Amino acid sequence: MSAASKSDLYRKLPSVDELLRRPELVEAVRREGHTLVADAARNVLERLRQKISAANGDPHAMAAEVSQVVQAVTVELEHSVAYSLRPVVNATGVILHTNLGRAPLAGAALDHMRTAAEGYSNLEFDLATGERGKRDVHASRLFQKLFGDLASRQVSTVVVNNNAAAVWLALNTLAARGEVIVSRGELVEIGGSFRIPDVMAQSNAILREVGTTNRTRIADYEHAINENTRVLLRVHRSNFQITGFTEQPALEELVDLAQRKNLIVIEDLGSGAIFDLRSLGLTEESTVAASLRAGVDVVTYSGDKLLGGPQAGMLSGSTALIQRTRKNSLFRALRVDKLTYAALETALLAYVKGDYDAIPALRMMRASKEVIGRRAQALAERLRESGIDVELVDGESVIGGGAAPSSTLPTRLLTITLRGVSADDLQTRLRAGEMPVIARVQDGRVVIDLRTVFASEEDCIVQSLMKMAGGG
Ligand SMILES: *Cc1c(COP(=O)(O)O)cnc(C)c1O
Repeated sequence: MSAASKSDLYRKLPSVDELLRRPELVEAVRREGHTLVADAARNVLERLRQKISAANGDPHAMAAEVSQVVQAVTVELEHSVAYSLRPVVNATGVILHTNLGRAPLAGAALDHMRTAAEGYSNLEFDLATGERGKRDVHASRLFQKLFGDLASRQVSTVVVNNNAAAVWLALNTLAARGEVIVSRGELVEIGGSFRIPDVMAQSNAILREVGTTNRTRIADYEHAINENTRVLLRVHRSNFQITGFTEQPALEELVDLAQRKNLIVIEDLGSGAIFDLRSLGLTEESTVAASLRAGVDVVTYSGDKLLGGPQAGMLSGSTALIQRTRKNSLFRALRVDKLTYAALETALLAYVKGDYDAIPALRMMRASKEVIGRRAQALAERLRESGIDVELVDGESVIGGGAAPSSTLPTRLLTITLRGVSADDLQTRLRAGEMPVIARVQDGRVVIDLRTVFASEEDCIVQSLMKMAGGG
């Protein structure tokens, strides 16, 4: 492009002020405010200037682009006012997918959150006395029903922001400046930043590692106990497994040793389960109830991973110890808001009733391969009618960062191929749709697992794929 045509194009670019006087953008300022529209205009003009300066192409095409500047600002504005946090279709079959928001909440939980949030509530107000109340009561009455009569002692529960906070609070309250004994086989890292040794250091407790990576005996704990020891800590290994030549003392042995030495047992269950997942044909997973029954003093666990509820962390255990954690001066920094209590109350009520299908994540876990296969078959037929190449194969869904992380469930997968489109390309395009569809690539093909897809989302998948098949 010649220098003359470049300077001609620069001259045709309006200023930000001129742009904001165009009727479409006057209207946009009224709707969205001056800041966002002016920012959008500045971004578009800057892009055009750079494009002109770099342009080695056709001056007519560039001139056409300059004449479309108002439309470009409108599109830029649309992007900037759109929410960043968006719904997606989880077609991965990973039920508690940490990157996709873990547990979807039940409609009843959303209703409860809405009514609690859109006006005032009795969050910290005792309606009987008219005096100040405690936010804990809303969940603790239900926790009481779940765990109250499991153990021969009084059990209480407090709720904090997540399980990481629960572990920190337990250690800081019950072991600060003292020693905490942990097996070397349990010094795990979870999800990139939660590392047991680091949390321990931040809680001011002193880590005392015992045993080896694969084998730790009760005698290892016993030998390490000294006058500074406060806690024996058991950590659920989450999505890490040690198999083969292994040894780990039973929870009961830890409890027995702690009782003899007057120490506290804390268990970070994180990814255990609240009820026995063996009813789903899964391998045995520890449950909160079993740990409390075995005599663990404080159990910590996740609200989303373990209950299929909102993000939260729970500490359940002996009332005297739980009350101490509640009095920690940093408890206030870790507590949860009314929305979390509302969602939690709904989830807990479902557990108390035994109504597991009311929890979306549990409903997904309980769906049989046959039911998923029938849905997959019906969807495959719709896709084939549109000329899309689909096959059904057996596969596995994953429970995920959560309830039983290493457990899988048999499922039926849709494998999709589009002529002339690689699997990676197809996966990227599915993600780029108005309603992004997140799928897996397996053996060079895109696979869709309907276990984690709501029936109401199946149309999104069909439309997304049809658009690609039609549009090439
Ligand atoms: C997931 C997990 C955590 C962290 O829980 P968040 O709810 O993500 O904070 C801690 N410990 C264990 C064993 C876990 O599985």
